Amino acid sequence: MSQALRELVRQRAGQRCEYCQLPEEAFPFPFEIDHIIARKHRGATTAENLAWACYSCNAFKGPNIAGLDPASNEFTRLFHPRNDVWHAHFEWNGPIVEARTAIGRTTLDVLELNNPESVQIRRLLIEEGRFPPPA
Ligand SMILES: [Zn+2]
Repeated sequence: MSQALRELVRQRAGQRCEYCQLPEEAFPFPFEIDHIIARKHRGATTAENLAWACYSCNAFKGPNIAGLDPASNEFTRLFHPRNDVWHAHFEWNGPIVEARTAIGRTTLDVLELNNPESVQIRRLLIEEGRFPPPA
């Protein structure tokens, strides 16, 4: 992947994780390029299929593109940062991400968006007045 493409994805995301909205300077590990549709599922390395993601979201997401909605147990696709609007599927309750839709619930579950480390980082950012980002 070219450095230019990587930088385009990073800047387009406002240097925030496109899944959990964490700013990259607040996270202890470098952010990564996420293939929204994983390469395993023939996802392309093109701007339309790439997202900027924190290490935590990218690691939990892995090659997943769907999961089971924990409310209905129905097979449900994951949030797609290029096609979906974050606030249509998620909302903030302090440092906790809450889901508004089946896609939100499934993504929250698969990516473990409320894992204790991420919640703790958000708590500190909220205390500093740096989180959540403006809608
Ligand atoms: Zn994240």
